Amino acid sequence: PDTITVQELANRMSERAVDVIRLLMQQGQMMKINDVLDADTAQLVAEDMGHTVKRVSESDVEVGLEGEADNAADLKPRAPVVTVMGHVDHGKTSLLDALRQTDVVAGEAGGITQHIGAYQVRMAGGERITFLDTPGHEAFTTMRARGAKATDIVILVVAGDDGVMPQTIEAINHAKAAEVPIIVAINKMDKPDVDPNRVRTELLQHEVIVESMSGDVQDVEVSATQKMNLDKLEEAILLQSELLELKANPDRSADGIVIEAQLDKGRGPVATVLVQRGTLRVGDVLVAGTEWGKVRALVNDRGEQVKEAGPSEPVEVLGLNGTPEAGDVFSVVEDEARAREITDYRQRVLRDKRAAGAARGSLEQMFSQL
Ligand code: GDP
Ligand code: MG
Repeated sequence: PDTITVQELANRMSERAVDVIRLLMQQGQMMKINDVLDADTAQLVAEDMGHTVKRVSESDVEVGLEGEADNAADLKPRAPVVTVMGHVDHGKTSLLDALRQTDVVAGEAGGITQHIGAYQVRMAGGERITFLDTPGHEAFTTMRARGAKATDIVILVVAGDDGVMPQTIEAINHAKAAEVPIIVAINKMDKPDVDPNRVRTELLQHEVIVESMSGDVQDVEVSATQKMNLDKLEEAILLQSELLELKANPDRSADGIVIEAQLDKGRGPVATVLVQRGTLRVGDVLVAGTEWGKVRALVNDRGEQVKEAGPSEPVEVLGLNGTPEAGDVFSVVEDEARAREITDYRQRVLRDKRAAGAARGSLEQMFSQL
């Protein structure tokens, strides 16, 4: 059968063998550097480490770095993906609602958009901005822990009458750890007792230095409820996204991230995904975490059935056989057999991990009783 040693696999990925061994160990397999893996396991290990795998022949596993697959010439500009963060009651939800109403198309259609955990605002000039509706701080951290980077820009909402508060600082720390640029929205500017300069000074203490204090962080004074300066905030987002030169190849099989998922009584498992690369189409076979399915329908943020979704587009996916978890990475694979192979493996790994955890738990119990 096809085999590869741990060392050889590590070499082909340009990873350290010790990291491969550690991953295998986490999955409950104790291996040494010269032990052999079968091709399927090797492939899945490589994918777990963020590599894409091309099997050249049955007896060979060729591992390439993820991202190498896209030529610079195939990359096209994509919409920025924005997350709103900030202290409770500073106006995150109000701001998201207000921004959503700036969508020119939704405006024409009477402003009815459905909640799918993410939405895209289309502006008069044709530009688009994708807003993630769900990730509070926790979801943001979960996604990052899984190695998924769902957001390009963080809008840090700070109420002008309240200033920097504990969750403001938390949000700053999350954004910095993820190396995601911040745009500050000083909110509630319609209130009489606001002091935006106090906010700027307080932010300075947390190394968020706005432009007027000779830093490079944009700040915009807004009122979510009065819909004041939302256009300025959107301009700031577009400017930031130009600086980031956000691009993706739309002409490849899709991958991305699960924003949220639930079991719907009528429709079965429904996952809202954010496409990050490629184009997702009805009929595609998709793997998301430990689940897979053939895409039966795609529904956009306006509740319309669509045939496809490209980079930075959020879309609801119907047709999965189970409910994946928020933060799971998804990718389109060649066929159902491959989807089954990958999810079987992942489910096995998950079971092994749980079993290992349970075994450790009972050992700890034993020791604690001594
Ligand atoms: P979240 O907890 O950050 O999502 O905050 P919400 O959006 O739920 O807002 C908290 C409260 O502040 C609500 O009562 C909002 O109506 C109010 N609020 C939000 N934005 C503004 C604003 O721009 N001006 C004023 N006056 N009130 C606001
Ligand atoms: Mg809220």
